[in-house]
Order: sequence, then structure tokens, then C-alpha cells
Amino acid sequence: MNSVIRIALQKSGRLSEDSYQLFKECGIRFDYGTGKLKSVSSNFPAEFLFLRDDDIPGYVEDGVADLGIVGENVAVETARNVRTIHKMGFSKCRLSIAIPRGETWSGIQQLQHKNIATSYPRLLGNYLAGEGVQANIHEISGSVEIAPSIGLAEAVCDIVSSGSTLLSNGLKEVEVIFRSEAILVGAQTISDEKQALIDKLLFRIKAVQAAKN
Ligand code: ATP
Ligand code: ZN
Repeated sequence: MNSVIRIALQKSGRLSEDSYQLFKECGIRFDYGTGKLKSVSSNFPAEFLFLRDDDIPGYVEDGVADLGIVGENVAVETARNVRTIHKMGFSKCRLSIAIPRGETWSGIQQLQHKNIATSYPRLLGNYLAGEGVQANIHEISGSVEIAPSIGLAEAVCDIVSSGSTLLSNGLKEVEVIFRSEAILVGAQTISDEKQALIDKLLFRIKAVQAAKN
């Protein structure tokens, strides 16, 4: 039987360019950016699916895709049953708590019984539980950073890389709760033939990464 591995990548976003570039450097050719959902490699037994990042862990858990590249933040938040195969070293960011710039920060206990807006209720909830803080978590899917200015929350918990988005919304980062980078995830069970292809791919990925360091 001739196996083909299916790899789920973010269609367009902060993971996409580096993901496409990596496969290119691994010598695996495929078309992307054509608007198609699927692309078959011309020189490696792989098929690529282009999806929203949030959907990738679910597709891998269900076995629709064998592998996926996704932010660790999304992998943890979606809590799907997938395994982390490799850390990719790109799309590094952190999930942080931020409050209005003019306010003083005396520590996480300050958020006791306060309202916090986030797209990461699970990660935030786990962190607060570990700190013994009870807060009202308001899940919103986007534009989290405007929540304090419209009176929805006293604090936010959002993805930060440079901090410029926070700054332009009058917020300051006060506590990092999670550090993330892109990871390669895989299904918990896989056939031997597909595992052999994954090993081959992983060998190339590691060689590309080693050449950069
Ligand atoms: P989609 O349309 O696929 O749902 P999205 O808007 O949810 O995309 P992106 O903003 O493209 O997601 O971010 C994808 C992932 O990239 C995040 O989950 C995170 O792991 C990482 N990331 C987010 N912001 C940054 C950043 N500023 N710098 C580097 N990596 C980031
Ligand atoms: Zn997303």
C-alpha cells in the first residue's frame, strides 16, 4: 500500500508563511495560496490541508489529518487528544494578563472577583485556579484588548508578541501566563507506513533547523 500523510496547515495567518517555508526548505513541493483547501505534493507522499488554526487539533484528533502545525496555545486551549511531536521554533508569543496603563499592579490577587476578557478561557482558568484566584472569565473571540475601555472587564488575557497592540489600546502587560511557539502535532495512533513517512519528514525538519542554528 502506498501511504500518503495528510498535513494540516493554517490557511493564512501568523503560522502560515513559516510553515510553508519550512516544507520548502525540506524539499517538499506543493502549491499554496491558490484559494484551494487541499494540495498534493509533487515530490513527497504528502497532502496538505489549509484550515483555520483553531480547527487543526480537532482534525488531527479525528484522524482527518495525520499531522498539523498549530500554536501551543491553541493546542492546549482546544484540549484535543493529540500528541506533540516536535517544537517548530517559530510563531513565538506569550499569553499575558494586561490592565489599563494608568493602574498599579500589585499581583495576581488583585484580580480576585474581577472580570477578565479573553479568547483563552481554559488556559486562563487553569492559571487562576493555580493561583487561588476566582475571577469572572468573559470569553470573546476577537478584539479582546478593547474590553476594558468599553467597561466589559477590568483586565484582559491575550496573545502578546511585541506589545504594540496593548500599548495602542492603553493597556500594559503585567503577568505572563503561558509561553507558546508553533508545534507539530500528530494523531495518537498511526499506521506503521505513515509513521515511517513522519520519521522521514522529521529527519528533514531537524536537519533544516540544525542548519539554522
Ligand atoms: P485563523 O484565521 O486561522 O483562525 P487567527 O487570527 O486565529 O487565525 P493568528 O493571528 O494568525 O490566528 O495566529 C496564529 C497563531 O500564531 C496564534 O495562535 C499564536 O500561536 C501565534 N501568534 C499569534 N500572535 C502572534 C504574534 N504577534 N507573533 C507571533 N506569533 C503569534
Ligand atoms: Zn484562529
